[in-house]
Amino acid sequence: MNSKPLAQISVSTLKGVGPKGAERLAKLGILSLQDLLFHLPLRYQDRTRITPIGSLSQSDQVVIEGEVELSDIRFGRRRSLLVQVADGTGAIMLRFFHFSSAQRATLGRGVRLRCFGEIRKGPSSFEMVHPEYQLITDTKSQKLEAELTPIYPTTEGMHQLTWRTLTQQVIDQLAASPETLADLLPLEQQHTRPSLAEALYYLHRPPPDAPLAQLFEGQHPAQQRLIFEELTAHQISLRQLRQQQQQVPAPPLKSSGKRQQQLLNNLPFKLTGAQRRVVDEISTDLQHPYPMLRLVQGDVGSGKTVVSALAALTAIEAGYQVALMAPTELLAEQHHNNFTTWLAPLGFEPLWLTGRHKGRERKERLEKIADGSAKVVIGTHALFQDDVIFHSLSLVVIDEQHRFGVHQRLALREKGDGNTLPHQLIMTATPIPRTLAMTAYADLDLSIIDELPPGRTPVTTVVISDNRRDEVISRVSSACADGRQAYWVCTLIDESEVLQCQAAEESAKQLTEMLPNLQVALVHGRLKAAEKAAVMAAFKAGEIDLLVATTVIEVGVDVANASLMIIENPERLGLAQLHQLRGRVGRGTAESHCLLMYHPPLSNNAKARLSVLRKSSDGFKIAEKDLELRGPGEVLGTRQTGEMQLRIADVVRDQDLLPDVQQAADEILQHHPELVEPLIHRWLGKRVEFGRV
Ligand code: ADP
Ligand code: MG
Repeated sequence: MNSKPLAQISVSTLKGVGPKGAERLAKLGILSLQDLLFHLPLRYQDRTRITPIGSLSQSDQVVIEGEVELSDIRFGRRRSLLVQVADGTGAIMLRFFHFSSAQRATLGRGVRLRCFGEIRKGPSSFEMVHPEYQLITDTKSQKLEAELTPIYPTTEGMHQLTWRTLTQQVIDQLAASPETLADLLPLEQQHTRPSLAEALYYLHRPPPDAPLAQLFEGQHPAQQRLIFEELTAHQISLRQLRQQQQQVPAPPLKSSGKRQQQLLNNLPFKLTGAQRRVVDEISTDLQHPYPMLRLVQGDVGSGKTVVSALAALTAIEAGYQVALMAPTELLAEQHHNNFTTWLAPLGFEPLWLTGRHKGRERKERLEKIADGSAKVVIGTHALFQDDVIFHSLSLVVIDEQHRFGVHQRLALREKGDGNTLPHQLIMTATPIPRTLAMTAYADLDLSIIDELPPGRTPVTTVVISDNRRDEVISRVSSACADGRQAYWVCTLIDESEVLQCQAAEESAKQLTEMLPNLQVALVHGRLKAAEKAAVMAAFKAGEIDLLVATTVIEVGVDVANASLMIIENPERLGLAQLHQLRGRVGRGTAESHCLLMYHPPLSNNAKARLSVLRKSSDGFKIAEKDLELRGPGEVLGTRQTGEMQLRIADVVRDQDLLPDVQQAADEILQHHPELVEPLIHRWLGKRVEFGRV
């Protein structure tokens, strides 16, 4: 008997896995027998029973059996072989677009067939297109499957049959020696759920009476058992990541609060209660001798920037440097402007570093960073480059976190002095529903600015078809005649920046012609940074009436006099992104409008999404809807796609489990540390390496 754990047995020990096969499996991250066992079917087919033709319904995948009544070639739009099969309860048409003459001859009148395929609605009856089929002869009646047929996620060169024979071998080994697969949940968590081996067996080979709908929804207890374990593994790995980061010391930043008070006195407004609370949370963190890891969430316009400036002052007062990183040059420049307004009067002139600074200019800037005379450095990714050496970096502020991968975050962290890590403050305007945040950001502390500064008038949002484009254009005209400014945002399905810019150029041209009395300008991602900055400055100064833009204006642009925004083809964007765009207007006291100008026809899903936006201006509510309608991958961006790939769990569908998951994670970390490594290995495999310090 082989009692080596399945996690330590290579897949190449299986029959049918040669070097090539092992390579293919490795591409899917499947190295051990345990990995194979956790490669779960996506869905199931029922080949265990024969369905009477009379009881079929559309999109069923079923086995049917019957006799050929008619067989005929049709020359319609496409030449096809039509075979009518009947079983006494009804008749169905089999349709083949590709067929040989031998095939045609076999499928003659009177022949008995068993077919498997998906039921579709044809012109006059149900149809199966290219079904799998077998001839039934009286002498041998084929056996039906005893279990539901699992369909595995696969890769090129791996057939479903191969998956079935491979998983069968592992299932057999597990049945013979159950001790080769450890149940990694603490006993307390086990008793209410099926055992691990039971759950896996069920999911690989469900019995004929298994509730397919429940399985499809991920609600079966066997699935829930694994989902629970997977979410727990993720939770633990994120917390571990956090612990690892916090084992490295950070400079404790003590300050009297004098500088902060000076800035507060100079501001033309008072902080909101939410801003004050978050500033306090940050100040407390900064005094610790280990790195702060804090995510500040706040809707667009909630005033995150000034919060980060106040944090920066704490670091400066304590004698250290601060780096602020933004995702685009435009935004970096805007931050630079704001920080200059706020900090320069206190004697701290922020330094701006971008890829644009070359040669001598760059060298001078780098020197100021290296000798510590630049207290606040603001820039884009340019701050990561190897030649940027800080004198005493103690705080890194990252704006719009979802656009940065964790890797980039880690790289900037390495800009500390080698012995300590800087504190990290991450700010995002993409509100993440609490449940999801608990899962996706378990490595960070959360602060929420859940209050907008007073005096903002909510933006009125209208959904309008683009065949009323002329009306929309005259609306722009009258708004600008009243001294207001407007944005016209162009979107495109294609991710291609070139095409997106072309579309914007096209619109700008058209609008310039149609609005001869207005100053129309264009800004898009392919303009040089200096050109972009010049356009934005002119818009801010009121020299431009209508700014035609691609989604580059998504983040951060702040022009209070702009009170009208038109978004072309909003159906192409996610709700969170639309909400952010819309946040560019409604920044002043004037009543603001956002026109979502869609291209008909709108799908039902798109209709539902746009109406969410029309009805709500609450970023959290919108994000929650977005999550429901689009799934977490889209909402979380890189984080979800790159680092939080869940195999069986779905953070939205399974959010009810999250409180229990947190508890289980606590329990394991405290009382069963020996389970941590195997759990992470089982569910995250190699993916966890990104987090190694
Ligand atoms: P975001 O959270 O979207 O980054 P900003 O920091 O850009 O928001 O702030 C939006 C605008 O609101 C800025 O013009 C900022 O100066 C202003 N602001 C910030 N806090 C307050 C406040 N408490 N009262 C009034 N205006 C504020
Ligand atoms: Mg901002």
